[in-house]
Amino acid sequence: MSDFCPVVWPEEPTPEHLQTCNECGLDKHGSRMVWGEGNPNAPIMVILDNPGAREDREGNPFVCGTRQTLQKAANRAELCMKDIYVTFILKRKPVRAYNKEKARQTCMIHLQHQLQVKQPAFIFCLGNTAVQSFFQDPDSDVKTLRGSTHYVKGYRTAVGYHPLAARRRPNLWPLFVEDWMHVANHYNSYE
Ligand code: SF4
Repeated sequence: MSDFCPVVWPEEPTPEHLQTCNECGLDKHGSRMVWGEGNPNAPIMVILDNPGAREDREGNPFVCGTRQTLQKAANRAELCMKDIYVTFILKRKPVRAYNKEKARQTCMIHLQHQLQVKQPAFIFCLGNTAVQSFFQDPDSDVKTLRGSTHYVKGYRTAVGYHPLAARRRPNLWPLFVEDWMHVANHYNSYE
């Protein structure tokens, strides 16, 4: 049993002029914006669908199941926080029904901006929602695309299962670790 212990990674603050973004309407859901976390200058950019719960009822930060599983798998692939920046297709967590397509297309403007600024060496999309949005292909899926390196928007990109899927379905955990190994191996071979 690994004694690795997930921790709260530092958040990159949302740029001041974007903190009041209301472009897609998710600002009305009441969840706060999360721009990204980890090392803002990391070579590997991980893209998730949206931020999960980050604070408990008393407002204390905690590491949710998604981030625990993500960090554990990264650790198994010998990657750590200095190697990784995590961001999202949607910068706010939706809490009720919303226009998914419109929100994802709209918020992609912010991700494009992050890519231009950060120029990551490698991108790792986790889960079908992130994959379909980033690949701009509603028919793409993790099962088909995982295990290879793709070129998307000019970036070397790999895909993997969503951490929550790997957490809830034990049979996916080894595949999830495999996906992280793929990223670590390919990233290291280009360093
Ligand atoms: S989810 Fe994205 S586009 Fe929508 S309000 Fe938040 S930052 Fe703006």
